[in-house]
Amino acid sequence: MAVVYLSLGSNSGDKVGFIQQAVKLLQNCDEFTVVRTSTLYETEPWGKKDQEWFVNAVIEAKTKFSAVELLHHCQRVEQSLGRVREGVPRWGQRTIDIDILFYGHEVINLPELTIPHKYMHERAFVLVPLLELIPLFKHPVLNKSISEMHEELEHPEDVFLYGTISV
Ligand code: ATP
Ligand code: CA
Ligand code: CA
Repeated sequence: MAVVYLSLGSNSGDKVGFIQQAVKLLQNCDEFTVVRTSTLYETEPWGKKDQEWFVNAVIEAKTKFSAVELLHHCQRVEQSLGRVREGVPRWGQRTIDIDILFYGHEVINLPELTIPHKYMHERAFVLVPLLELIPLFKHPVLNKSISEMHEELEHPEDVFLYGTISV
């Protein structure tokens, strides 16, 4: 069993609904159980500014999946919620995006999977919800806590409290 942290985001259609459905679908199997969820946040787009604002959250879960199996599980849920990749620019509009932030304390560098997620320490929309769950957890490569990484954000994008997840 591994303890994992996933980032969920949506900036298209029923954003809160997509996040709630994603949480349900993720745990619709024996191998994955949600333990805790952060609050929902309304967030300014990161990286590609000229698009709708996002709703974001982070979840803590326990899983029997390997890291690569978990990536494929997340991708299946994205597909079943209508995620389209073709013709969409990098960091562009999406019904749902599910990224693996941490897989226990493991460091993984595969062509299709980088853990910890390679931009997580630059993103207020990831660090602010993580602060609720694991402020003292240390990034296994940067060796800094979530609180430290959050304090060190130079130009954090806007992140506003939005509501709670109900599944
Ligand atoms: P970003 O990864 O910067 O947040 P994105 O989420 O918009 O961008 P996607 O198009 O969803 O990018 O994913 C591109 C690829 O990233 C996926 O096909 C997947 O193989 C790879 N990837 C690498 N590391 C991770 C990770 N930790 N979690 C999810 N996907 C990952
Ligand atoms: Ca992402
Ligand atoms: Ca992604």
